[in-house]
Amino acid sequence: MSADTCPTISACSLPALGMDADSLCRDLRHYFLRTLGRDRESAISPHLYTALAMSLRDRLVERWKASESLRRKQRSKRTSYLSMEFLLGRSLGNTLLNLGLEESATQALAQEGLELADIMEMEHDAGLGNGGLGRLAACFLDSCATLRLPVTGYGIRYAYGMFRQEIIHGEQTEEPDHWLKDGYPWELKRPDRVRPIHFGGRSEPFHDDHGRQRFRWVDCNDVLAVPYDIPIPGYRNEVVNTLRLWRAAATDVFDLGEFNAGAYPEAVAAKNAAEHISMVLYPNDSSENGKELRLRQQYFLASASLQDVLSDWVIEYGHDFSHFADHHCFQLNDTHPSCAVPELMRLLMDKHGLDWDQAWAITGKTMAYTNHTLLPEALEKWPVRLFRQLLPRLLEIIFEINARFLGDVARHWPGQTERLRRLSIIEEGAEPMVRMAHLAVVGSFSVNGVAALHTELLQEELFADFHALWPEKFNNKTNGVTPRRWLQWANPGLSALLSSRIGDAWKRDLAALQALAPAADDADFRRRWAVVRQANKVRLAELVHAHTGVRFDPDALFDVQVKRIHEYKRQLLNALHVIHLYDRIKRGEGAEITPRDVLFAGKAAPGYFMAKRIIKLINNLAEVINADPATAGLLRVAFLPDYRVSVMERICAGTDLSEQISTAGKEASGTGNMKFMMNGAITIGTLDGANIEIREAVGHDHFFLFGLNAGEVAELRPHYDPRLYLQADPDLQRVVELLQSGYFNQFEPGIFDPLIDALLHPHDPWMVAADFTSYKLVQREVADAWQDQAHWLRLSILNTAASGGFSSDRTIAQYNADIWHLDPLPAVAGG
Ligand SMILES: *Cc1c(COP(=O)(O)O)cnc(C)c1O
Repeated sequence: MSADTCPTISACSLPALGMDADSLCRDLRHYFLRTLGRDRESAISPHLYTALAMSLRDRLVERWKASESLRRKQRSKRTSYLSMEFLLGRSLGNTLLNLGLEESATQALAQEGLELADIMEMEHDAGLGNGGLGRLAACFLDSCATLRLPVTGYGIRYAYGMFRQEIIHGEQTEEPDHWLKDGYPWELKRPDRVRPIHFGGRSEPFHDDHGRQRFRWVDCNDVLAVPYDIPIPGYRNEVVNTLRLWRAAATDVFDLGEFNAGAYPEAVAAKNAAEHISMVLYPNDSSENGKELRLRQQYFLASASLQDVLSDWVIEYGHDFSHFADHHCFQLNDTHPSCAVPELMRLLMDKHGLDWDQAWAITGKTMAYTNHTLLPEALEKWPVRLFRQLLPRLLEIIFEINARFLGDVARHWPGQTERLRRLSIIEEGAEPMVRMAHLAVVGSFSVNGVAALHTELLQEELFADFHALWPEKFNNKTNGVTPRRWLQWANPGLSALLSSRIGDAWKRDLAALQALAPAADDADFRRRWAVVRQANKVRLAELVHAHTGVRFDPDALFDVQVKRIHEYKRQLLNALHVIHLYDRIKRGEGAEITPRDVLFAGKAAPGYFMAKRIIKLINNLAEVINADPATAGLLRVAFLPDYRVSVMERICAGTDLSEQISTAGKEASGTGNMKFMMNGAITIGTLDGANIEIREAVGHDHFFLFGLNAGEVAELRPHYDPRLYLQADPDLQRVVELLQSGYFNQFEPGIFDPLIDALLHPHDPWMVAADFTSYKLVQREVADAWQDQAHWLRLSILNTAASGGFSSDRTIAQYNADIWHLDPLPAVAGG
């Protein structure tokens, strides 16, 4: 019914909003002048961004409702993607791209005398994640919507996202990221879907009306979970999925009994504590947090999301859960949401009256777990004591899951008590701990790693016993990145050039990039490729200059390592190579050196001393090297502060050399490596994570390989002696001596001693010294390759051509084929 004839709002359907420039312009003015109450004079302001976002959100909402109605009608299976992190970055550009509104928006803004690029710079990144894991979740949502799959993301709406990084005197300082301060125009609050979350209290057995023993969680403190929905549009297919983020709020129920009548303000203030749960993202990447508040966050996400799904189920199908597992799958993004396993048991038994066996059958058919790391420091364990105090009913269920599981193991491997101890969900000791990874494996029907090598190592090492028990649970899903954001959006110049050569098919199926390969041998095409890449390098150089004052030369080799700062990622190895190049220049080999501009960026966890000291080293190197006239035209170093998604969009398009140099066996997959490859950077890397698959895809001759492989690292471990490598390579000896001499820290004596000590220590887990010589030599091959620009451009084109397999569309298609088994939503007119 149209708006003027329908009797009530709920029966109304409005005419579809125009997708042309005039319609957009009309809405933009409406929101700017009326809704936001701005004046014409205050034109170039963040409110313009907000007004444009609101205009676009209306167009998303139309498609959102239509998609939801299709999903309801289809009644088919859905997946909930549970993740503590969604590193979305900006949404304006992605929305324009996916809705096909770039042209219209550009024109609409032009009518106001405005540039789209300026408006886009006003959007604050939504930084609700640390790095790769959170960005993967965001890429996955884009691919699910693009593949028309009914997948809902569930996460936490942190009031403060990933901290803003400032560099002061070469050191990282952390500033709070109050990303919501000007509002977030993409979200829609859903107060009608609030869920209560229990904490504390105790579990109490009772007998129900049928005389069955049941349990209830009593004397608990409740917190409310309030959902905020963010629309996730597919690529030009009219589908809009949902990312639902939970905010913690106090319940309205006052416990004034705890206070005397005069303490009303104190009683209200005490409610504040509840809101702390969703206050801040923990800024640790690949390391455990171990804090009570973090466990609260994890349970908060799991419980709110499961209640949400179960309540929809009851509305649609009533209290019969017999075919629930045919309709739902929960994908756990690492162990962070793995409280979902006992929580689903609790809800099914305590709230919905199922018995243990029924509930366990459903849980074991709906939970799927993705492992993201083998690093022991990142494997989550929670003290049993903390669980008992915070989540007593959950602990009871975990004990029961474990007892039954260990019973099965004992039947499978009679008499193997050592194996029982290893497999147990509870780690015994002075402080017994709940091993969250074991809980996730036991409770899931699927366990996947995120690259071929990673999955292999999972099966052989971390989960070897589980793999022996349940080989069928294990599978690999090599990560990917969305080519919408990371190629089309980040690199419009290259996209246009690609389409001019091979047509547009690659925009719907990235594997079609393969057709580009023959163009690598076409000199004219190489020239055009070079022009586009050069323009991107100019843009990157401008960014670096604006934020560091360092002037990169777009004719130099742009050598880039941007990612979280972590010892396993070995920014230190790269820094040592920079010192080596500087040393060569100083000893008069400048004429043999290929001009190179080295860029670093990345955040260190605030409590990670060594990572922060590596940042300081890089900044000191930049200071000394850039100021030395001897390096002019040969070597520049910069540390770009506050690495984040919007910055990576600029960086990946302008990079020549992608540094992926982790110690083999330590980087589960990596996804930065894929963004660079798509954009035509060549990789220098170890045989680690998805590097291995990248090298296979592009060809061994088109990838700069160095270093020990994972097997060699493991073998060398027991008798590793870094000093042997110094003796064997005078260049390394000189680098270490230069560092030791205090050359780079003349007024800060001793500050790099911890780095030098770690490098020279036989227990250095990252084996930096072992790989230096190989790295140095392969970097010379890189420099030689750069000297032959036609050759380099060939490599660049071949890398892009071979990058099709690293689209997250491929990854998600595999999740769906092997784990989820969802039917795509039917295509509708216009989609
Ligand atoms: C892609 C990405 C990452 C992951 O990078 P890796 O090199 O795989 O560690 C981290 N942070 C941001 C902002 C990214 O865009």
